[in-house]
Amino acid sequence: MTLPARTAPPERILMGPGPSDTPARVLSALAGPVVGHLDPFFLKVMDETQQMLRQVFRTENKLTLAVSGTGSAGMEACVVNLIEPGDKMLIGVNGVFGGRMKDVAERIGAEVITLTRPFGEVFSTEEIAAAVAEHKPKVVGLVHAETSTGALQPLEEISKVVHAAGGLLLVDCVTSLGGLPVEIDKWQIDAAYSGTQKCLSCPPGLAPVTFSERAVAAMDARTTKVSSWYLDMSMVRNYWSNQSRAYHHTAPISMNYALHEALRVVLEEGLDNRFVRHRENHLALCRGLQAMGIQYAVEEQFRLPMLNAVFIPEGVDDKQVRSRLLNEFGIEIGGGLGPMAGKTWRIGLMGAACTKRNVLLFLAALEDCLRDAGCEVTPGAGVAAAYRE
Ligand SMILES: *Cc1c(COP(=O)(O)O)cnc(C)c1O
Repeated sequence: MTLPARTAPPERILMGPGPSDTPARVLSALAGPVVGHLDPFFLKVMDETQQMLRQVFRTENKLTLAVSGTGSAGMEACVVNLIEPGDKMLIGVNGVFGGRMKDVAERIGAEVITLTRPFGEVFSTEEIAAAVAEHKPKVVGLVHAETSTGALQPLEEISKVVHAAGGLLLVDCVTSLGGLPVEIDKWQIDAAYSGTQKCLSCPPGLAPVTFSERAVAAMDARTTKVSSWYLDMSMVRNYWSNQSRAYHHTAPISMNYALHEALRVVLEEGLDNRFVRHRENHLALCRGLQAMGIQYAVEEQFRLPMLNAVFIPEGVDDKQVRSRLLNEFGIEIGGGLGPMAGKTWRIGLMGAACTKRNVLLFLAALEDCLRDAGCEVTPGAGVAAAYRE
């Protein structure tokens, strides 16, 4: 066999549902020398990462760390540590990721109660309150930013109704963290997980998680062992605790360097500035798309800034447009998932990819593709509308 050539990844503009563009600073952090997972240098990286994660999650939670694995590992880590077989868990399913949380909970023997909404819609506090009062679940699981549909679940009021019934609130912040306010302490969220490759603009591979004291107390009160050895927080937290540092598994050293740098990038910009940047570029994209006759799939008040789900215009070939965007312009966007497959495009404006340059380039490239596909688009209308109200 001849040796394959050294990989030469193409330069893309990642405007899909993640991963997002990774700043050069973060990529170069990956190339640092690998040290041992108990090396004092690495322990300092872990401590600083924990401190920065607390700032990004806006929490004082002691148990805040990066799980080794992608966002789904964060989801699994939260569910598996909070739920024992037979425990009741209420899950809001209004997209693919709520559905995934249900699958995870069922596999570990939870008694799952689902609250469903069509893709693109969100849950009201009243309907969650009613379901919580009726079922008294141990854990309520919701997705803050449903990347499959582009819908934003309001969370400010929900912990009150969950806590009033003695439950814990678990939130998926994979797509929202770093692009939208995620107020763990203020909103009294008990457990949350995220991923590195969405609005934190780090390669995929780690899952930031945080647990409130209430959640830790529930974990300490378990009568059964956590069914996943790898994700068992009672052991993982000893490695991340600066008292014991007991070996559990070998931390992905280089990925932790990358996350450390990605968090520095986020905090240097400032969370509030970052939220404004996401919002402004989203509104510009929105004006541009509307000037081209493209409609959003989500009601205005519930739209995610970092994930724009829009209907594919009538008669336009989904795959053809996406492959032209990729092959001719180097731009990746996402197709629809689940019942939205073939009906929507998902245009990401996540982290480092959320720039004026990308919005204008994308609108111009899309116009070219749409005109080729026979759509009537006024030349330049999208670009002209984007940043001029
Ligand atoms: C991407 C995503 C996940 C899964 O994360 P992976 O890194 O793909 O494992 C979970 N929830 C939401 C809302 C996501 O956007």
